[in-house]
Amino acid sequence: MIPDSDYFKQARKKMVKEQIRKRGVKDPRVLDALLTVPRHLFVEKSLQKEAYEDRPQPIAEEQTISQPYIVAAMTEWLNPFPESRVLEIGTGSGYQAAVLALLAREVYTVERHRALHLEAAERLKRLNFHQVICVLSDGSLGYEAAAPYDGILVTAGAPHIPEALLNQLNDGGVLVAPVGDRRHQRLIRITRLGDEFVREEGTPCRFVPLIGNQGWPEK
Ligand code: SAM
Repeated sequence: MIPDSDYFKQARKKMVKEQIRKRGVKDPRVLDALLTVPRHLFVEKSLQKEAYEDRPQPIAEEQTISQPYIVAAMTEWLNPFPESRVLEIGTGSGYQAAVLALLAREVYTVERHRALHLEAAERLKRLNFHQVICVLSDGSLGYEAAAPYDGILVTAGAPHIPEALLNQLNDGGVLVAPVGDRRHQRLIRITRLGDEFVREEGTPCRFVPLIGNQGWPEK
C-alpha cells in the first residue's frame, strides 16, 4: 500500500496538467506514470508539500530530484515499451526509476553515492517497485553485467556520451542524456541502428554533473 492522500493526488493532477501537458508531453503512458508515482515520498518529509512544484528539489549528498517536466520529457523521448529492459544512470531519489518501472519490464539504476543508493533501494522496495534493480557503481561505465539494454537514460550532465553506454545499447535501442558543460546541457538522443548511431538534439537543461571514469573528474 502506497501512503498517499487526496491532497497529493490533486497536486499530481495539477502538476501533469499545468507543467507537463501544457509543455507538449502527450504520451498517455508517461502522463499516467507521472500521475501515479507519489513524488512526495521521494523527498525529505519537510519538503513533501513542495515536491510537485515546477523545479528540481534537493536530496542528500548535494544532489537533486529532477524537475517533473524534465522527467516526463526524457521518459517520453526514451519511449520504453512494456517489454523493454532499461538502464538509468543516476538513481538519486529513485523517482525516475519508479516512473520507468511503470513503463518497462525491468529497470537497472546505477548510483555512485552509497547513501543515496541505499536510501533509494529501500524506498523502491517499500513502495513495491520490485522490477527496479539498484546498483552502486560508476554509471559512466554503464552496467555491463546486465547489458545490452533497449533504453539508457542518463540523469546527470555529461561532457560527452560515454562510449561504454553506446556499447551497451541493443540494436534499435535508444539513449537519452544531457550533454554539455558542467552547468548547462542539452538533451541528446542517440538511436542505435546496427553499427550506426543516429543523433538528435532536444531541449536545453541543467543537471548536476556525471562524475566518473567517462564523465567529469571529481573537483
Ligand atoms: N534520477 C534521479 C531522481 O529521480 O531522483 C535524479 C538524478 S540527480 C539529477 C543525478 C544523480 O546522478 C545524483 O544522484 C548523482 O550522485 C548521480 N551520479 C553522478 N555521477 C554518477 C555516476 N558516474 N554514476 C552513477 N551516478 C552518478
